[in-house]
Amino acid sequence: EREAARAARHQPGATRDGVRVEVAANINRAADAAAALEAGAEGVGLMRTEFLFLERDSVPSEDEQEAEYRAMAAAMGDRPLIIRTLDIGGDKEVPYLGLAREDNSFLGIRGIRLCFERPDLFLPQLRAVARVARDHPNVHLMFPMISTLEDFRRARAMFEGVREELGAPRVPLGVMIEVPSAALIAHELAREVDFFSVGTNDLTQYTLAMDRLHPQLARQTDAMHPAVLRLIHLTVEAARREGKWVGVCGGAAGDEVGALILTGLGVKELSVSAPQVPGVKAALRRHTAAQLREMAEQALAQPTAEAVRALVQGRRESA
Ligand code: PEP
Ligand code: MG
Repeated sequence: EREAARAARHQPGATRDGVRVEVAANINRAADAAAALEAGAEGVGLMRTEFLFLERDSVPSEDEQEAEYRAMAAAMGDRPLIIRTLDIGGDKEVPYLGLAREDNSFLGIRGIRLCFERPDLFLPQLRAVARVARDHPNVHLMFPMISTLEDFRRARAMFEGVREELGAPRVPLGVMIEVPSAALIAHELAREVDFFSVGTNDLTQYTLAMDRLHPQLARQTDAMHPAVLRLIHLTVEAARREGKWVGVCGGAAGDEVGALILTGLGVKELSVSAPQVPGVKAALRRHTAAQLREMAEQALAQPTAEAVRALVQGRRESA
């Protein structure tokens, strides 16, 4: 089965009846792009830019960032590249930035909140992205940890200012849906964004109030919990009404059960780790879009994550 999946990894992601679902990769570095393409990735659904900051002992300059984003955009050619702005804080600490310690770092100045506090970090990053976008129309920009409409508007205004200053063309702007409030106002957000990408790691953590890194909670911190699935359902429905698309770049997208349920909910892009690309494509090809829709509908009505997993497992065995 693994060999067959590998052999078919360059086929476009789709259900058995040919409904397209783009299977992209999450990468941290331009150097990872070749391996992602080799694995069959149809684009980059999440480039975690914080890794450029984490793996060194000083802030990368605007030019250094530009070079990294440019190399990645070039490697992807016509395929989409979604660059996510800095998501520092929470578990991702950058010692040389001298940030204040917080009692509840996952609920504090994290992600976009830190970027608003530190325009000295945010603006050079936005400028680097806009410079690359002048030459590479595949560049998309996405903001992490958006919890209010004002968050998005403020981030967009900062980027638009930079973009006009540099004479860059329009760049598709998306937000991560990884905080329950963002899913619950998805309708309002959907009017103003170009796309959503669901971060199931944080969305699960914040919905279930369970630390995503807590070893004793690891088994229960499951994105297939119906509470999380219902928030994703709201998000997809809101986006659909506004003609926008939804991807998923959290860990659930690379889990076979997750990939099937998310596709059934109407997600159009799954961004996973490169080694997971062939398996996710193979799993999608085993089911029709109607089967996945029905599975997702039943999943939404289950009382527990365990029941959702049992439901999908049963379907796979009878398929
Ligand atoms: C997520 O929260 O699901 C996500 C993709 O972002 P990160 O794992 O980088 O927090
Ligand atoms: Mg996250």
